[in-house]
Amino acid sequence: MKAVVFDKVLHFRDDYPRPEPKAGETLIRVLHAGICQTDREIIRGYMGFRGVLGHEFVGVAEESGRAGLQGKRVVGEINASCANCRWCRAGMPTHCETRTVLGILGRNGCMAEYCSLPDENLHVVPDDVPSDRAILLEPLAAACRVLAQVPLDGTEKAVVLGDGRLGILCAWVLSTSVDLVTLVGKHHWKLELAQGQVPVRTRHVDTCTIDDADVVVETTGSADGLQAAMGMCRPRGTIVLKTTVAEPHRLQLAPVVINELRIVGSRCGDFADGMRMLSDHPELPLARLITSRYPISKALSAFEAVEKGREIKVVLDLA
Ligand SMILES: [Zn+2]
Ligand SMILES: [Zn+2]
Repeated sequence: MKAVVFDKVLHFRDDYPRPEPKAGETLIRVLHAGICQTDREIIRGYMGFRGVLGHEFVGVAEESGRAGLQGKRVVGEINASCANCRWCRAGMPTHCETRTVLGILGRNGCMAEYCSLPDENLHVVPDDVPSDRAILLEPLAAACRVLAQVPLDGTEKAVVLGDGRLGILCAWVLSTSVDLVTLVGKHHWKLELAQGQVPVRTRHVDTCTIDDADVVVETTGSADGLQAAMGMCRPRGTIVLKTTVAEPHRLQLAPVVINELRIVGSRCGDFADGMRMLSDHPELPLARLITSRYPISKALSAFEAVEKGREIKVVLDLA
């Protein structure tokens, strides 16, 4: 099958073996796959991953043992857990000790004609939700994770640092719960794209003087983002850290102690929360984030385009 494979270098292959789903897993025919910041980090060495890349997709359940799934359009939670270890039994399957993660850890991903996931990871996409919205469910759920982790009463000053796709999604999602959301970034065109339809204020990082935010969500994807977030947070404020970077980095941590900051690490969200956000908030203009599409055979060009920095979400089409 066609697949985008990373083994120290990135390849497009048309002879990659089809996945053979284990018992309790569904074979998915991929329709669309998204390129994510995490894929770029993997190419730079994050997680030491080798195999088929990709963890954002919309597909069709081709072979499934789960009743009612066969032939349905689906999206999938990316963490496959064991259900048996201490963290699974404690209700934290995304922290499973032996988990595999689609296209990130020990499991081939979705930038291919087929991928497989445990049956219970899959969610049927309602007919009235177009694939161009559903393809963003994984990052949307990751943005919803912030609402699940930080108690908000709506009166907070929330700042999102970083105007990439995850940053924009976090700002949009926060705006459904908090009145004053400011998105801080360094790209005028991305800040502009985040506005309109959604009540989010935007500031360019060079002219931004915020130092009293109750909550700062750090999504810059750069190792310096956390330091900047510390400067924007009020004493006893909360920083939600979304950035994962491969390289080690030196940080000045004194502000965390002096200002008694709370730093919350935040990764994947619950797809059910993301799906609810999709249907309750049709005004969130998700499809606007798709700035380019490429056929999978042109995946290397797609990755090059992402590296040039003029894209927000690039989608690979398999159909
Ligand atoms: Zn991702
Ligand atoms: Zn487990």
